Amino acid sequence: MTPRGDPDAQERRRRPPAHPALRLTLDTPVTYLKGVGPARATLLAKLGISMAGDLLRHVPHRYEDATTVTRIVDAAVGSDVTVLGQVIAKGVLPTRKGLRVFQAVIQDASGMIEVAWPGQPFLDRTIAKGDWLLCTGAVRFFHGRRLQPREFVNLGPEEEGTAGGRVLAVYPSTEGLSVRLLRGLVQQHLDALLPLVSEPLPVDLLAEADVPPLRDALRMVHRPDSVVEAVRGRSRLAFEELLCVQILHRRANQVARQARGGRRFVNRRDLTTKLRAALPFQLTHAQVRAIREIVADMASPRRMHRLLQGDVGAGKTVVALFSALLAMENGAQVALMAPTELLAEQHARSIGTMLAPLGITPVLLTGRLAAKDKRAALTRLASHEPVLAIGTHALLQDDVSFADLGLVIIDEQHRFGVEQRATLGNKGEAPDVLLMSATPIPRSLALTLYGDLDVSVLDERPPGRQPITTVVRPESGRGKVFEFANTQLDAGRQVYVVYPLIETSEKIELKAATTMYEALLAGPLAGRRVALLHGRLPSDTRDDIMRQFRDGALDVLVATTVIEVGIDVGNASVMIIEHPERFGLSQLHQLRGRVGRGAAQSYCILLGDVGAEAAERLAMFASTEDGFEIARADLQLRGMGDLFGAKQHGLPAFRIADPLRDEALNETARQVADRLLQEDPGLEAPAHQALRQLLTVGYARALDLFRVG
Ligand code: ADP
Ligand code: MG
Repeated sequence: MTPRGDPDAQERRRRPPAHPALRLTLDTPVTYLKGVGPARATLLAKLGISMAGDLLRHVPHRYEDATTVTRIVDAAVGSDVTVLGQVIAKGVLPTRKGLRVFQAVIQDASGMIEVAWPGQPFLDRTIAKGDWLLCTGAVRFFHGRRLQPREFVNLGPEEEGTAGGRVLAVYPSTEGLSVRLLRGLVQQHLDALLPLVSEPLPVDLLAEADVPPLRDALRMVHRPDSVVEAVRGRSRLAFEELLCVQILHRRANQVARQARGGRRFVNRRDLTTKLRAALPFQLTHAQVRAIREIVADMASPRRMHRLLQGDVGAGKTVVALFSALLAMENGAQVALMAPTELLAEQHARSIGTMLAPLGITPVLLTGRLAAKDKRAALTRLASHEPVLAIGTHALLQDDVSFADLGLVIIDEQHRFGVEQRATLGNKGEAPDVLLMSATPIPRSLALTLYGDLDVSVLDERPPGRQPITTVVRPESGRGKVFEFANTQLDAGRQVYVVYPLIETSEKIELKAATTMYEALLAGPLAGRRVALLHGRLPSDTRDDIMRQFRDGALDVLVATTVIEVGIDVGNASVMIIEHPERFGLSQLHQLRGRVGRGAAQSYCILLGDVGAEAAERLAMFASTEDGFEIARADLQLRGMGDLFGAKQHGLPAFRIADPLRDEALNETARQVADRLLQEDPGLEAPAHQALRQLLTVGYARALDLFRVG
């Protein structure tokens, strides 16, 4: 782990040890290691390796053994394989389309195969004849067998292979530093370095998590006897990372509980009781529980910082409303921010209806307000009236100031950046904060992602909602699908037809949707009132179209994914999704959530010819409406980066762990962290010194959280 916070370690790094030749330590700069000169040290630094200990922590990201590597002779057309072969010929060839293709022929003991990288002529510079390449990809037929690698690793010359049951460790490398060279360096120094490694985790804790001691784990990952062993070694390293992050978060939460000066709202049960009486429905158990958690936070002297997660349609708005009323009955003001104007308007309308019996009218603040209305809104916010302001980013503007902002609610919180959320928070004096998210994720993961937030979960659907019928239909069924859509339209319902973002080109996306829009108008939807909605339209035009659809002035909305968030049209009963295989499951779930909002039976139709793998995913999606299950499957398929902009969320950086794929390990880490901090909040016990040291060296934040004395 690279020290970030520890000034001593930084100092040690700047100053080479007096007698490097005499004593090797984990802090010895790599330049002093045999086989590393200044040039290589620079390359190693690119990989985050500057000290001998970093070399130990640079672990293989992949292993190959005889069971995972296919003999070249057995690489059949149509299969997906990993092969290991030596380059015996190579060159760059132009194709008729003007694309330049780098091609190589690789050979192992069994035979040879052509490997091609279209559009990557530059590989000719880095791949040499005689190099061993580990290539993974599909084998196609193209004047013979041809492998097009999805992924490949240049192992350099003199590859030893995986023959004889050996496990081949593949390290993350960088240009100029081959995998073979890295592996050689690690192997060369491993025996000298391992004895220097001391155990930072208490023994009982290792047993609790069922992971091997650090020294064993490092040997297992660098020099495994089997892939199974390597995986076990890795689990230890991953666990350590997850544990550190969980400890920091839990500790930060603990410290905040003591220090965060917030406002103490008194549960007067004045407005909230009135709301409960006025609601046309019973709250679900989950809603009651979430409200209770929120009220407890708001009534305590500390500042609330809570995430409310719940599937689409779980009823987050009402929960938010209870918290708003609690603030207001204490004389404070509330701001509810949503990511789109339409969503803000929708909230203003539905909340306005719910609050009408209480004689409360929310203040709407969006970019499209006329100057006069905006002035009026600003005046109300600046007065000491306990208002509920509902708006978009417009709330963040400098000229918006609140007399007494006591609570901030942010809907679809992942649509906002950290700064934006902070800007709104800064418009009051340490207001309580409630974030809302419709992408439900496992609790331990939420705690990892959202740091010191508290989490409430709505894991129950309001009763009486009709399940949505989801089906997958092939292209050949297109005629029938639109026939069905027409029967729904004849019955007075409305329909969405959604196109994916194709490739990353907006132009192509637009063309696909436009072409389809025209084809639909000329064909199955002739005579219907249809509009085309896509991201290239100016946002007010977009909002206008959405409003028309909402008001029933349009029958069909042909759209790209811009409708994903923020439209609630109870009368829409059919969602047709084209090229469904191009969407992530969570995205499909959000799209599906646009129908089934009224009393009518609703349908989600996934239309298109998809491959076997996609068919399986889509079948899983069609079989459940449980957002948690879907989000989890999606996260596992795509990783977290896609679902959560990593930067935006300040995701902790993991070198080895993946809090999602390692969910079970992460859950264990959370439990262990909780127990540990309960027993020894400051990690002051002698048995915890090494762990505390590990934290303070690895994480700058730990210095504040675990101050000595
Ligand atoms: P989301 O969690 O997606 O934001 P909303 O808050 O928009 O969900 O609620 C979806 C719909 O469910 C709204 O029309 C709301 O009035 C309704 N609703 C919320 N809670 C209940 C409940 N307990 N019983 C019945 N309907 C409810
Ligand atoms: Mg909502």
